[in-house]
Amino acid sequence: MKLEGKSVFGGIAIGKCKVYGKKESFVKRNKVVDTASEIKRFSQAKEQAKGQLAQLYEKALKEVGEANAMIFEVHQMMLDDLDYVESITNMISTQGINAEFAVAATGDNFAEMFAAMDDDYMRERAADVKDISNRVISILQGDQNQGDLGKEPVILLADDLAPSETVQLDKSKVLSFVTRHGSTNSHTAILARTMNIPALIGVDFHEDADGQIGIVDGKQGIFIIDPSEEEIAHYSKLKKQDEDRARLLQELKGQESVTKDGKAIQLYANIGGVGDVASVLANDAGGIGLFRSEFLYLESSDYPTEEQQFKAYRTVAENMAGKKVIIRTLDIGADKQVDYFGLDKEENPAMGYRAIRICLDRKEIFKTQLRAIYRASYYGKIAVMFPMVISVDEVLQAKEMCQQVKEELKAEGVPYSQVELGVMIETPAAVMISDLLAKEVDFFSIGTNDLTQYTLAIDRQNPKLDDIYDSHHEAVLRMIQMVVDNGHKEGCWVGICGELGADISLTETFLQMGIDELSVSPSMILPVRDQIRKSGALR
Ligand code: PEP
Ligand code: MG
Repeated sequence: MKLEGKSVFGGIAIGKCKVYGKKESFVKRNKVVDTASEIKRFSQAKEQAKGQLAQLYEKALKEVGEANAMIFEVHQMMLDDLDYVESITNMISTQGINAEFAVAATGDNFAEMFAAMDDDYMRERAADVKDISNRVISILQGDQNQGDLGKEPVILLADDLAPSETVQLDKSKVLSFVTRHGSTNSHTAILARTMNIPALIGVDFHEDADGQIGIVDGKQGIFIIDPSEEEIAHYSKLKKQDEDRARLLQELKGQESVTKDGKAIQLYANIGGVGDVASVLANDAGGIGLFRSEFLYLESSDYPTEEQQFKAYRTVAENMAGKKVIIRTLDIGADKQVDYFGLDKEENPAMGYRAIRICLDRKEIFKTQLRAIYRASYYGKIAVMFPMVISVDEVLQAKEMCQQVKEELKAEGVPYSQVELGVMIETPAAVMISDLLAKEVDFFSIGTNDLTQYTLAIDRQNPKLDDIYDSHHEAVLRMIQMVVDNGHKEGCWVGICGELGADISLTETFLQMGIDELSVSPSMILPVRDQIRKSGALR
C-alpha cells in the first residue's frame, strides 16, 4: 500500500515498521474467579516492570548520569511499597476483579492521595505512582514497552512526537520517522535532520502497519507498506545511489569551506546534546554554531544541576578540541515543555513565557546555567548566545548576569576563559534594532525558524500552514541582509543557525549578503561545503 506525506528530510529507509503508541490504555473491569492466580499474574507483571526499570536505570546512568537515573530506582522501590501492593492484592481477592483494574484503581487512589498532600516532594510522587501503574498495566495487557524499540532498527510510526518523547528513544534503533501530525519546522523534524534519517509527516497510516515491512522515500514523500519485490529492488537501488553520493561527499572532509574566489566561511553544526558531537566530528564541522542547551533540561526529570550541566558543556568543549562551541542559553517553553518547570498553559505559547523571558524572570535557573557555561569555558572555546531577544534591555540584563557570574567565580578561585557573547536574531524586533544590539555583543546568529514564524505570522508547528511558511519570503531575506549590514557596521560577525542555513539553493545568496557563518545539521555540513566551494561572485 502506497501512502503520501510531506518530506521532512530526504533519503530512503527500508525496514520493519513499529507503531509508537501513546493511546490511552483502557482498563476494563472484569470478574475473576481464580483470584489466587490473578494475584500471581500481578506479581509476575510487577517483577517484569522492575526488570524494565532496572534496564532503564542502567541506560540512563550511561546517557544522563546518576542524578537523572535515580528516578528509575525510586520507581522500582515504589513498586514494592507494601501499602501499594496490599491495596492491589486486597482488591483482587475481596472484590474478585482483574489485576489490570485493581492496579489502575490503586494507582488513581494513591495518585489522588499524593496530589492532595501539603508537601511539594510528595505531590510530585502522584505522577510517579501513575507512571509505575501504567507500566504494570501495559505488561498485563501484553503491550510492549514503548520506549523499547526492540533489537532491530525500525521505521517509527507515531501520531506525533514531542521533544520530550524523542529524547527518550534509542536513536540507533530508528531508521526513519513517519508521523500523522507534526510540521516540517518542528523539533522532531530538526532531530531527524540531525540524525540524518528520512522523515515524513502528514502520513495517514493504519495501526496495522505495525510489524510490516515499510519503505520511506524521504525525498518524494512516499511511504510504502508491505512493498512488492520490485519496489524493494527499486528503492534498494536508490538507497545505494544515496550512499554513493554520501561517500563522494566524504572527499570534502578536511577541505576548506571556501568559495571559488577565496572567501572563507565558518561552517558549523547544530546539536542538541553531548551525543551529537560524534556526528559533528564525523562530518568535519568547523565548530558548533548552536548547542540547543534546553535538551539537557528535556532529558531530565528535574532541574539539571550546575555540576551536571558543567560536565555536559565541558565534554562538548573538550571533544571539539579548541573549535568554537556556541551554547544557546535555555530556550524552554512553546513546543519544548518540561513538567518540572510548572509552566502555565498558555493561549499563545510561541509568543508567551519562554526562553530569555523565563531566564530573566527566574534568575536562579539562568545563573546556574551561566555558572556551568563559564566554568566549562576553561576547557575549550565557548561562546554564549541568548534566544528570543526583543530589546537592548534584555541583553544588558543578561550581560550583567554574566558579569556577576564571572566575579563570583573569580572570588571562588574557579578558572574560566573569555567567552564571546551573541544574540540570536529570531524576532522582527531584534532585526529592527540590530544596529543597537550590535553595540552590545560580539556576534549575531539568525534563527530563521522563529524569525520566519514571527515575520510571516505563521505558526511553525501548524502543518496546515506548511505550504505558506515560505522561508524564501522576500521579507525574511531582506531582514537577513539588514542584520548582516547592521552587525558588520559595529564589528559583529553574523551567522545563520536556523534551518534555512542548510538550504543549498540559497548558499550563494547568503555569501553575497556577507554572511560569515552557517550552522547546519551535522548531516548537511558536507553538502553545504560542496555548495560553498562551487560558489563565487561575491559583492
Ligand atoms: C530558530 O528559531 O531558527 C532556531 C535556530 O532556534 P529553534 O529552532 O531551536 O527555535
Ligand atoms: Mg528559535
